[in-house]
Amino acid sequence: MTIETIEVEGLATPVSRIGLGTWAIGGWMWGGTDEKDSIAVIRRALDSGVNLIDTAPAYGFGASEEIVGKALADGYRHKAVIATKVALEWQDGKVFRNSSPARIRHEVEDTLRRLRTDYIDLYQVHWPDPLVPIEETAAVLNDLRKEGKVRALGVSNFSPAQMDAFRRVAPLSTTQPPYNLFERDIDRDVLPYVKQHGLVALAYGALCRGLLAGRIGVATSFEGDDLRQHDPKFRAPRREQYVAAVKALDVFARDNFDKSVLALAVRWVLDRGRTIALWGARRPSQLDGLEAAFGWRLDDKAFAQIDAIVAQFVKDPVGPEFMAPPQRLLAA
Ligand code: NAP
Repeated sequence: MTIETIEVEGLATPVSRIGLGTWAIGGWMWGGTDEKDSIAVIRRALDSGVNLIDTAPAYGFGASEEIVGKALADGYRHKAVIATKVALEWQDGKVFRNSSPARIRHEVEDTLRRLRTDYIDLYQVHWPDPLVPIEETAAVLNDLRKEGKVRALGVSNFSPAQMDAFRRVAPLSTTQPPYNLFERDIDRDVLPYVKQHGLVALAYGALCRGLLAGRIGVATSFEGDDLRQHDPKFRAPRREQYVAAVKALDVFARDNFDKSVLALAVRWVLDRGRTIALWGARRPSQLDGLEAAFGWRLDDKAFAQIDAIVAQFVKDPVGPEFMAPPQRLLAA
């Protein structure tokens, strides 16, 4: 299998256009985790040529980064491009935005320790913090880059204006927005910006939290603290619409390309621009369909047919906004 790659400014190694997302591996908001399966899926990804591993301190309050660190021990570190994040803090199980230089200085050391490494390949601001000027955040991140703790810088959930502010102070290599064939707000502004400035977009939720993997039905239930219990797409009346759209997309993919809806969803992200699809898998078998995403392309006619199917079934579309963490409350 030939895995497609893309150059990311500041990184010496070309990056695979599928990245392994490890939010669910942290357990929190995904109904728990299994460390053995998690380590196995990370190594499976790396052995298959997927070198990008996306994590964050907030995923399981350190648990995801720790598991990634364990998986990369024993000779795997050199195979991996580690993308992690910064600037969310947590208290009593709740996360808040904090992009202050002091927070970032503190967090980077915790992250390096958890990941068992002395450098981070791609360091991304997880969410913009309205309480801290973006230029201040970018300046401290640029210092970390010059100190060698970080190779390249990225942002996540930023608008073009916010990326402009960042780029006035520090080199910006990537952005990480939500993007899949049901959630495509970034077509309007972020994706054209990415193209114009030679960035790369790491599309998160490429499988729409599992919907586009094709196994979720109207009766599928989610356990524990799984965020899909609160996701409006997974609740009545929208669940039926989205599940019906996925079924129709699966028929379309099989009839036209001899592929599943999962491969179609990943390919859709890859054929939209300078993108990488983040695929959240938490056990090795979930990566079985990896190679089906490569070696073919969607053209304009296929994009239009997909749009028509989505419009036919999803009458009441909704985005991923429910996931946005709040800003800090300042003492009065
Ligand atoms: P996702 O990739 O759209 O979906 C993940 C879920 O899809 C998995 O938990 C799994 O569900 C299901 N799945 C995966 N492969 C499957 C297969 N072969 N068959 C059946 N089901 C399969 O969602 P995501 O994890 O939210 O997003 C991906 C990554 O993007 C995250 O891990 C994280 O790294 C990143 N992310 C970033 C942000 C941000 O603010 N920057 C926000 C969200 C996500 P089950 O668990 O039910 O098996």
